[in-house]
Amino acid sequence: ARKAFITGNWKLNPQTKDEAIELATGIASAVTDDSPCDVALFVPFPYIESVQETVGDKVIIGAEATTPQINGAFTGGVSPVMLKSIGCTWALAGHSERRVIFKESDEEINEQCKMLIEHDMNVVLCIGETLEEFEKELVGAVCEIQLKKGLAGIDKKDLDKVTIAYEPVWAIGTGKVATPEIAQSVHETIRGILKGMYGEKIADSTRILYGGSVSPESVDGLVAKPDIDGALVGGASLNAEGFGRIINHES
Ligand code: 13P
Repeated sequence: ARKAFITGNWKLNPQTKDEAIELATGIASAVTDDSPCDVALFVPFPYIESVQETVGDKVIIGAEATTPQINGAFTGGVSPVMLKSIGCTWALAGHSERRVIFKESDEEINEQCKMLIEHDMNVVLCIGETLEEFEKELVGAVCEIQLKKGLAGIDKKDLDKVTIAYEPVWAIGTGKVATPEIAQSVHETIRGILKGMYGEKIADSTRILYGGSVSPESVDGLVAKPDIDGALVGGASLNAEGFGRIINHES
């Protein structure tokens, strides 16, 4: 059975380290032995170490993005090796904001995933369709392309380091959460694609998270679905009380 995984993505928030520590303190206090899930927060680089110190081993702290190159002339880059040297072994890859705003291609995202894995780190690969693709019923096709390109060259034995997050772009930051039925049907499709790529055992053990306007109100219905193993939460992870409620969802 897959253990639920509730994750937060702070994006470009909060504005100061003190606020970050305060938020992390509140979130960590919501994690108890009775919490039904693993918990992770993906936070801005400058906060990683202080937030790690704040939450101890209750919450995994990861980076929101990485640079696949390891050293050299890549101004602004942050490599897996640098992260690992500060005890950070998780990162997101392929978030739609990185794809759209920072123009990251499937090929670059694949390099990021491979580099993280090569350095024995864990990656949450984000995939998902735009509204236009959704309306054209291209959801399965888009997910298949993004999965196959994102995971190209990654070996079966390393899939335990991979989590998938399905984030329909039309649901991100819009308040328009996918219904549990729609999300479940896409998650089932994604698991089927993973099965074709890596076999049934890996498909069964890989966690697939849903992201896009997840709230304390919508989380229970989503994670009740058999193929939805947790959530990647943006806006609602900036409120400790609300995110605490998401962590301690009904299970
Ligand atoms: P929201 O929860 O704010 O819609 O953001 C989702 C997201 O992009 C998480 O990575």
